[in-house]
Amino acid sequence: MLCTSYKNPGAIPKHSRSEDIKSHFLPFKTLTAPVWEVSRLMSDRPCDSCDITRIGTVSHCNYCNQCVYGFDHHCFIFGNCIGINNWRNFVLAIYSILIITFYLSCLQSYIAIQ
Ligand SMILES: [Zn+2]
Ligand SMILES: [Zn+2]
Repeated sequence: MLCTSYKNPGAIPKHSRSEDIKSHFLPFKTLTAPVWEVSRLMSDRPCDSCDITRIGTVSHCNYCNQCVYGFDHHCFIFGNCIGINNWRNFVLAIYSILIITFYLSCLQSYIAIQ
């Protein structure tokens, strides 16, 4: 959970050139991106706030005021964007919460019938 909150989600420094973004993220993306990310439309769009050209799955987060590669959403629970670098940690954290909740509800039921 801490990784999800504090890990860099794939934020792109402002005023970056699109060649730098491609060289930094594209080799990484092909190894780790979910299947639905690869099939997204790969079109270039400008971001006026960050002064960059958004390539591929780069999207701007209005809460963090930064562009994030592989942006999924801004999570208010973890207080961070969910992007290419921390979506695995996010999914793991959600499953951990579900397992802990299930375990505690079983424990509570066991104690109640004693
Ligand atoms: Zn931006
Ligand atoms: Zn955000």
